[in-house]
Amino acid sequence: MKNIQKGAILVLSGPSGAGKSTIINTASDNIGKYYFSISTTTRNPRVGEIEGRDYFFVTKENFEKDIEAGNFLEYAQVHGNYYGTSLKLVREALEEGKLVLFDIDVQGHRLVREKMDDITTSVFITPPTLSELEIRLRARGTDDEGVISQRIENAKEEILAVSEYNFTIINDTVENAAKQFVIVAQAARLKKSQEDEIKFIARWLS
Ligand code: ADP
Ligand code: 5GP
Repeated sequence: MKNIQKGAILVLSGPSGAGKSTIINTASDNIGKYYFSISTTTRNPRVGEIEGRDYFFVTKENFEKDIEAGNFLEYAQVHGNYYGTSLKLVREALEEGKLVLFDIDVQGHRLVREKMDDITTSVFITPPTLSELEIRLRARGTDDEGVISQRIENAKEEILAVSEYNFTIINDTVENAAKQFVIVAQAARLKKSQEDEIKFIARWLS
């Protein structure tokens, strides 16, 4: 029987420093075939970040050209920089039936919901408390004090959107959070597009 299920989208949001990258890396062997959507950003690379693996780093000018050309599925300004998801690679991965993971902010999540709600599942990831977030951002050692304060202020706003998400993962220990993430990824794969549902019903009735 031909597989009628095309890909699905799983959006991860949460404050910078919540542990989203850590959780994806820890769970990656247990969530099946997936494509991690690499965002484009105008912010500077952090130490250790690699072009084309962590982000596509571009100038503001080039980012704005891509906006004009309609190349983004969604984009937003976060902490004073542009961040966006390119449409082309996402479309290809969905066609191949993959689970597409987006690490995007709450504004991006709303835009994805507007365009692709029927195949989208979302999870909000957060450390247990704001003070724990601050400790982890400092321990990560990638941002100076000014940037950390900005991320903390942003986190106070982002947490207000938690109820817009299908699931919440409290990242207490990486082990627990990764286990929960595997369950969420499995649930996300079960979400069918409306188009597929129509085909499924037609086949089921025949
Ligand atoms: P994000 O991708 O959400 O910005 P990271 O995955 O970079 O966050 O995690 C932020 C920092 O917190 C990293 O230094 C990471 O090693 C650490 N971290 C992640 N999860 C935990 C946890 N459960 N307990 C303690 N430290 C954690
Ligand atoms: P960071 O600078 O820590 O990598 O990311 C800052 C914030 O931008 C995070 O909340 C992250 O989820 C968000 N972000 C990263 N890529 C995108 C994107 O393509 N679109 C949107 N809307 N947000 C993004």
